[in-house]
Amino acid sequence: MSLDVKAEFEEPPGGRTPPHPWEQVTWEQWNDWRWQMAHRLHTVEDFAGFINLTPEEIVGLSAPEHFRVDVTPYFASLIDPDDPNCPIRKQVIPTAQELIPFEAAMADSLGEDAHSPVPGLVHRYPDRVLMLVTTQCASYCRFCTRSRLVGDAHVMFNSATYEAQLEYIAATPEVRDVLISGGDPLTLPLPVLERLLKRLREIPHVEVIRIGSRMPIFLPQRITSELVTMLSKYHPLWMNVHINHPKELTPEATAALGRLANAGIPLGSQTVLMAGINDCPNIIMALVHQLVRNRVRPYYLYQCDLVEGAGHFRTSVAKGLEIMESLRGHTSGYAIPTYVIDAPEGGGKVPLLPNYLLSMSDTKVVVRNYEGFITAYTQPKDYVPHDPATCPYCQRQRDEGGQAGVAGLLAGHSREIRPDTWNDVHARRLQRRGVHEETLMDHAIRQQQEVG
Ligand SMILES: *Cc1c(COP(=O)(O)O)cnc(C)c1O
Ligand code: SF4
Repeated sequence: MSLDVKAEFEEPPGGRTPPHPWEQVTWEQWNDWRWQMAHRLHTVEDFAGFINLTPEEIVGLSAPEHFRVDVTPYFASLIDPDDPNCPIRKQVIPTAQELIPFEAAMADSLGEDAHSPVPGLVHRYPDRVLMLVTTQCASYCRFCTRSRLVGDAHVMFNSATYEAQLEYIAATPEVRDVLISGGDPLTLPLPVLERLLKRLREIPHVEVIRIGSRMPIFLPQRITSELVTMLSKYHPLWMNVHINHPKELTPEATAALGRLANAGIPLGSQTVLMAGINDCPNIIMALVHQLVRNRVRPYYLYQCDLVEGAGHFRTSVAKGLEIMESLRGHTSGYAIPTYVIDAPEGGGKVPLLPNYLLSMSDTKVVVRNYEGFITAYTQPKDYVPHDPATCPYCQRQRDEGGQAGVAGLLAGHSREIRPDTWNDVHARRLQRRGVHEETLMDHAIRQQQEVG
């Protein structure tokens, strides 16, 4: 493999012209990410030259306050000009539907701002943080979860933001995994990105650095040897690439993913399940197979978030379960992502699966497989359970304050998990023994009314 940047995009013998309507552009310009960034498409006029825009798309593109539109010429060249249902097109060109509010829509549907100890740093899980480092992307997805900040030229991250983020991470020893996202971190100038990576690597408790990016899909030309060589200095470094449809895996994207994989960067994919784009077991099957061929491990399949502007992309949860049913058993386990709902209000990712466990007794567990074959697994009668008292790993966990959450209940580190209102409601209930014909909820509501 050549490590010479120029050679990667060399004009093939016999010459090659960029796709319509960029025939006048040189092959060298077309493959220069800076040229691509500078020539992104935004307006009705930009697109009308080569796409037959629908009236709904014209309304979407002309709306005064719409979420930013920017599409790299490369990604735009993948659009089918005559098909309004083209899965590439629907991801980046707004329609009138984007302007329609829907029930349960939120600007910050994941409650990220409420979980940010310092601006742009989301500490939602015990051992890892999400570090937002830019609002910029190479192109903008109409369904972006962070459309409240992404694309906004006024919300900028600067060295003071980074310093505060790094300071928090350095002062928080439980953070062993830092997920750098945005926006797209690979839009940052290389020295800025490298400085962040270097600073993170200087923090001893940061074990793993992850980058979330859509650059290999929107602008594969950006994945130069120079970039990849820089990234590979900061191992262990993982990357999750946002990929939604097999059509995104062009020869250019394949080459970009190959460069990253060759640099020893383990690649994962995050896919958003979306109506009219990839809500089909066969499309997802084709996608995961292509991902694996590109050395990308399907990581998450997301139920579409309740974010403003994305209502029309939502599918039923049943569709996601049907897709999961169509994968397990039918294809390699490593081609199967975890289907999750990223729960509103900062609830975090919740995995969902069809039921495989049908029944059980003291000795038997009855399961069904993907074919519908039902069988009993016999559990051992003489299993000697693991003894946490003599296990050094369990000892360490106890020393650190014990397991949290439901795992903590199982480990015996806590006996219950109570909603905030539980103590109040139950203390009052005990005081008034005469109220047990009321439901707890009725009782709590009446109490509130009496107080208020
Ligand atoms: C998704 C996410 C992470 C990473 O979660 P993993 O399941 O480890 O990939 C971390 N923080 C936040 C806020 C997230 O949304
Ligand atoms: S690439 Fe990611 S951050 Fe950027 S617009 Fe798309 S979903 Fe949002």
